[in-house]
Amino acid sequence: MDWSTFSKLKDNYSMFFDHMYTCELCLEATSDKIGICTSCQYDLPYSGLSCPQCSEPCTSEGRCGDCQKKPPSFDYSHCSLLYYHPVPHWLHRCKDKPDLRLAKRFAQLMFDAAPIFTVPPDFLTYIPTTRRRLFTRGFNLSEELCQQLGTQLNIPILRNALHKSRHTEQRRATAQERRRRDTGLRSTNKDLSGQHILIIDDVMTTGGTLQQAAALLKSQGASTVGAWCLARTPKPI
Ligand SMILES: [Zn+2]
Ligand SMILES: [Zn+2]
Repeated sequence: MDWSTFSKLKDNYSMFFDHMYTCELCLEATSDKIGICTSCQYDLPYSGLSCPQCSEPCTSEGRCGDCQKKPPSFDYSHCSLLYYHPVPHWLHRCKDKPDLRLAKRFAQLMFDAAPIFTVPPDFLTYIPTTRRRLFTRGFNLSEELCQQLGTQLNIPILRNALHKSRHTEQRRATAQERRRRDTGLRSTNKDLSGQHILIIDDVMTTGGTLQQAAALLKSQGASTVGAWCLARTPKPI
């Protein structure tokens, strides 16, 4: 069949072609290419009222008590979703086996629940991984999300402002271990004087990695550093 015949058929049967996808969560037909239907997207665990600096869910406006006592090194943060079903399952799936389609879905969900910028950032950046890990995994989800969002928002990506010297396994670490642990992140001594930089990452748990990254960016001269993550885990006990 040549292309023009295929196009005519496609036009005649557009209803069929528009509903070629199956929602992964409810198995209903959907035209949404990100793999879940509009109704399931609507029901996702979006973040509600939260502390504007650390994104911890809270019941009143303004910075939480922890941020007032000991503010983190990033100036603001935004998490598009909370780390509840189906987010943990999706993230484990994507980390265990790199899946670009899932990464695109995450970026789209983040874009749909984006922060409101009073002053847009000069650059987006991401939490780097080690070369070895990138080679064995073939994928850095943080970088992939950053790339997708940079394109959608038309904001340039800042590369090589941070370096990761060694990998630290975070998944099984306790909250206390995560906070104390050296993440292996290092500065690259790039001149970032006066820049507003927004770090993109997949999950904020204790915020320890983002804190170290923000401190390193500020040590290179950045004036404002924010963090934007796909999901926020509930406060560790
Ligand atoms: Zn659905
Ligand atoms: Zn806070």
